[in-house]
Amino acid sequence: MTGTTHPDVPPGITVRRWGAENGDGLVIDIDTDGGPPVHGIGVEPPEDASRANGPTWAYVIEDDGVTLIDPGHLGSFPFLADGLKVLGMTPSDIDRMVVTHGHWDHDGGVAEFAEASNAEFWAHELWAAYSPYSYGQLLRADESPLRVEMTRIGERLRETGPRTYGGPVRESKGSERKPGGGGRDVYDDMRSAVKVNRALADGFRHGSMEYLHTPGHWPDELTIRLGNLIFTGDHILPEITPHPSMAYKHPAELANALPARYRDAGDVWGLTAYLKSLYRVCQLGQGLTVMPAHRLFNRGEFRMTDESRAEETIAFHLERCDLLVEAVENGFNDLEPATRELFSYRPLIGSYHLMSAASETISHVELLEDTGDMVVHDIEGRDGVRLELTGSRNYRDVIGELLPE
Ligand SMILES: [Zn+2]
Repeated sequence: MTGTTHPDVPPGITVRRWGAENGDGLVIDIDTDGGPPVHGIGVEPPEDASRANGPTWAYVIEDDGVTLIDPGHLGSFPFLADGLKVLGMTPSDIDRMVVTHGHWDHDGGVAEFAEASNAEFWAHELWAAYSPYSYGQLLRADESPLRVEMTRIGERLRETGPRTYGGPVRESKGSERKPGGGGRDVYDDMRSAVKVNRALADGFRHGSMEYLHTPGHWPDELTIRLGNLIFTGDHILPEITPHPSMAYKHPAELANALPARYRDAGDVWGLTAYLKSLYRVCQLGQGLTVMPAHRLFNRGEFRMTDESRAEETIAFHLERCDLLVEAVENGFNDLEPATRELFSYRPLIGSYHLMSAASETISHVELLEDTGDMVVHDIEGRDGVRLELTGSRNYRDVIGELLPE
C-alpha cells in the first residue's frame, strides 16, 4: 500500500507485511484460537499470467510439520519464496505442499517448489489420475453439441474479433516483475512429470487438518478444514462466484482406470456437482472463516467471508437458471445469444471472456437438461443449437433443496 494509512485489519488477522491494493505481496498471520500457527501469503502471478483475480493466496500451517497450501501460478516461485522469508522461513522448511485443485494458478508452482525444497507433494487422487492427460486430451474427448457450438463461437470470434487474455500472450516488458514460467505446454509437461507423494481421498485427516473432496469448480477440488478455518481454494471465493465446470465425461481409458467412486463423471464435473459441494460446506456448521485462494484482500480492503458465502453462491446460481429460462423464453435460444443475454451486464470483449461466459451458460443448460426443464436440439445443416424449454421448472425444487430454510 502506498502512503502511511492502512485499512482496518479484521479480528484474528495480523499483518506481517503490507502489499499492493489487490493483495500482491501481503503477508499475514491468522489466529486459530490456540490452534497451530497459520500464515497467508498473497503470491503475485508472473508477468505473463492473467491479473484478473489478483494473487493466489498460499497458506502455511505449522501443524505436524509445516504444510503449504497452493504454491501458486507457474512461474511465481520467487514471489512465494519472498513471502516465506517474511515469515522467517525458506522453502526447505516446508514438509509438504498440498494443492486445492488442478488449475495452473494453484498447482503451476509445484515442480519449481519441489526442486527448491524437500517438500512432498499431496493432491486429491483425481489430480493424480488426470495428470498424465493434457487439458486438451481431458476435455476434447467429450464433444456434446453445446461444446461443439462453443468451439465454433470461439473460431468465429478469432476470425473477426480481438483476442484478450486466453493464455500467455504478452511479452515481458523488462519491468521488475519476473517473467513467467511458460505457457500451457510447459504446464502440461510439468503436470505429467511431477510425482504425487500422497493421493488424498475425501475425509483424509492429518494432524489437525481434514480434507474434504468438494468437486464442481474442478473435479479434484479439496476444501481443507482446520478448526474454524476452511481453506476453500476456488470452491468459495469472496466478491466473485467461481466458474462452475461443464459436465464433461471422462475419456474412456481414464474412466476404466478410475476408482469406482468416480466412474459417474456427473459426480465430479458440472454445476450440479458444484452446488452439492457448496451444500456440503453449508452443512459444516457455523462460525467458519473462509480462507480463499483469491480475493482475501482486494481494492485495499480485507474481504473476509464465512460459510454463508456457500449459500449465497447456491442462490446466485438458482437466480442465473431463472435468468437463462427467461432468456430462452424471450427468444434467445441459441448458445451465443443466450450467453450474451445472460451476461448482458458485462461486456464480453474478446474470445476469452465470451468463451468463459459460454462455458458457464452451458453448465447451466446442462443442469436444466438434467432436471428435465430444457432440451438442446442440434440443428442439422446450420451452425448452432436450439434451446427449448419443456415448460417445467423442476430446477427450482432441485436447487432449492440445497438451500437452508
Ligand atoms: Zn480454479
